[in-house]
Amino acid sequence: MSTQKEDAQAQLRPEFVQYLPERLEAGVLYISRRYNTAAHLCCCGCGMEVVTPLNPAKWQMAETNGAVTLKPSIGNWSFPCRSHYWIINNRVHWSGAMSDKDIAAVQARDRRDAERLVRMPQGFAEKLRRRLAAAWAALCRWIGGGE
Ligand SMILES: [Zn+2]
Repeated sequence: MSTQKEDAQAQLRPEFVQYLPERLEAGVLYISRRYNTAAHLCCCGCGMEVVTPLNPAKWQMAETNGAVTLKPSIGNWSFPCRSHYWIINNRVHWSGAMSDKDIAAVQARDRRDAERLVRMPQGFAEKLRRRLAAAWAALCRWIGGGE
């Protein structure tokens, strides 16, 4: 029933970091709470980087006693491997490779979620704009001060 390869990961070790490292190590799920992002190498062993933004429109992370669960599943339909698995309490639960129909359904859900997020009353978009504006102002001050 499994499409799992020999070098596939059965388990991931969560590592809480501030910044995601440039080179990810296989079998490690890097989590940056500060930047609300997690990343790992595709659990099939293909070496592709899977970056999962942690926000209401993307993935939700739950942690209990150092065991991490990501919801919804990880569907790497844009990778050649098309791996599809769940990360539940640090363990990788394999699902069959996604069919084109599954992929279309996930993409439709992504679009709906993104639209819902945009419609949120005090949306992230506004917050993000303010944050970018502040960062830009700080950068201008820094450049200006250096002269
Ligand atoms: Zn893969």
